[in-house]
Amino acid sequence: MGMFSWKCRRCGCDLCEGELVRLAGTVQTYNGYGGSVGADNVACWHEICYQRSTTAEQLDQTPSESASNQGFGPAKLEFLPGFDPSKTVDNFHVLVHRLYDHAFLTESGLESQSEWDELRCEKEDGDQEFFQKLLATRSDEEQMLMIDEQQRMIVDEIGESPDSRSLRFENLNKALEAVRGYLPQEYTIHVYASQGSLSGAVYEFDQWPKGEKESYRFPISN
Ligand SMILES: [Zn+2]
Repeated sequence: MGMFSWKCRRCGCDLCEGELVRLAGTVQTYNGYGGSVGADNVACWHEICYQRSTTAEQLDQTPSESASNQGFGPAKLEFLPGFDPSKTVDNFHVLVHRLYDHAFLTESGLESQSEWDELRCEKEDGDQEFFQKLLATRSDEEQMLMIDEQQRMIVDEIGESPDSRSLRFENLNKALEAVRGYLPQEYTIHVYASQGSLSGAVYEFDQWPKGEKESYRFPISN
């Protein structure tokens, strides 16, 4: 990721890596480096926002404002290459960033993904016998099979990832309603959803550190 990044000229969102953008006149998947062009004087749009602009707006090449996210952050579903506004969006699920970790909303409430990841890493690193066997195998294929097998054994032991068990909702409002009772004191909410094989953010709300602010809600159609 780069030292600089841009806001969309139309919707005002910070551009994120992976989104389809029109940058310095060309349509491209945003690489998070400000688009590998000079740091100054670039007019950028999400491609879908560019298409929704009037000809006069499209011709106005006033540079985009720079964005503080530096290209980081979850790519928004509606800005992903291949997104079709006429098709349905489903599988809404909630991720809450708390002070020291992030957690998915599951049957058990907010379940820490960070703790689960840490536990999995401990199990992986602690298995010295596995590494000795892995080093002794010669083919890539054998190694892949061993790694798969190790992952399966770890999941048997510590349970499936909260991510994979996150509750699915049919729309954004139901997802937000469900998480309401579980919110910690300081948090940011992301709601993700899918369209076919595409998956991306459809909602972003910062309660901390900037104060309460909904910074994105799908769809942006204005
Ligand atoms: Zn935009």
